Amino acid sequence: MAQSQYLTGDASAINAFLDKFDVFLIDCDGVLWSGDHVFDGVAETLEMLRSRGKKTVFVTNNSTKSRPEYHKKFESMGIPSDVEEIFGSAYSSAIYISRILKLPPPQNKVFVLGEAGIENELRTEGIRFIGGTDPSLRRDITPEDWKGIADGSLLDPEVGVVLAGLDWHINYLKLSHAYQYLRRGAIFLATNVDPTFPMNHNFFPGAGSIGAAPLANMTGQKPVALGKPSQAMMDAIEGKFMLNRERTCMIGDRLDTDIKFGIEGKLGGTLAVLTGVSKRADWEAKDAAAVPAFYVDRLSDLRAAER
Ligand code: PLP
Ligand code: CA
Repeated sequence: MAQSQYLTGDASAINAFLDKFDVFLIDCDGVLWSGDHVFDGVAETLEMLRSRGKKTVFVTNNSTKSRPEYHKKFESMGIPSDVEEIFGSAYSSAIYISRILKLPPPQNKVFVLGEAGIENELRTEGIRFIGGTDPSLRRDITPEDWKGIADGSLLDPEVGVVLAGLDWHINYLKLSHAYQYLRRGAIFLATNVDPTFPMNHNFFPGAGSIGAAPLANMTGQKPVALGKPSQAMMDAIEGKFMLNRERTCMIGDRLDTDIKFGIEGKLGGTLAVLTGVSKRADWEAKDAAAVPAFYVDRLSDLRAAER
């Protein structure tokens, strides 16, 4: 079984670790904060990394916020960041659609299952969309809907993509629209496929479960996912930041998303922190989703390198 090196409290091992990398891809929830609670020493740790010339990129699967909204969250938590360093799954999806899919008009509209964060990123990329937070879809299905969805008269013929993210108002009507677009050949994308996400020391249904999973069940298709561990996201990050993968390390709290993302992306290293979802027993188990190369109890343990 692969071994993971424990760095907490070992200044020389931390220095050797830091010397291996120029770029740190840093997961947000579970590493920097938990919900609205920022972990001690996070701002100072990022400052230490930057003062050593390291580039920091924040990579989150949470699709509910756009990059400017994230930037505000960083500010409110006292964590210095640049909006250009933030890479969320809503942004990842928008740039995949505009720069990789590049669908020609007119059939290039996106039907969105998701919140304003996704809409804002699509808008910034100049992508046309419907659905999302449209209040006219927040209701029960009616006999007129059954008829108009079936015969196509209530569908937009310009939709060429269905993008499933976390939608707090998911319902039968929206799923019926999305399903019909997929039946008509729309491309199936998901911001991320996390089955659950952590909140208040518990878990809640994630984007993968409420939009992407039922649509996958209906169609028999798997979406292209634009969040960790999907390599479509890594390719987008590499394109934007010109990464040297060998000199890049992924830091995260979750084996099945973050650590797997780094390993499958052939990064030079992965570092697990124990302030989030995964615990040491998880990667010591026989069926571990992924084994991190390094681990610390908490991100701020890297500050031991300062002394
Ligand atoms: N999706 C949602 C809606 C979340 O709230 C979270 C974490 O709070 C996540 C995904 C996972 O985010 P991250 O990749 O930053 O751990
Ligand atoms: Ca996380």
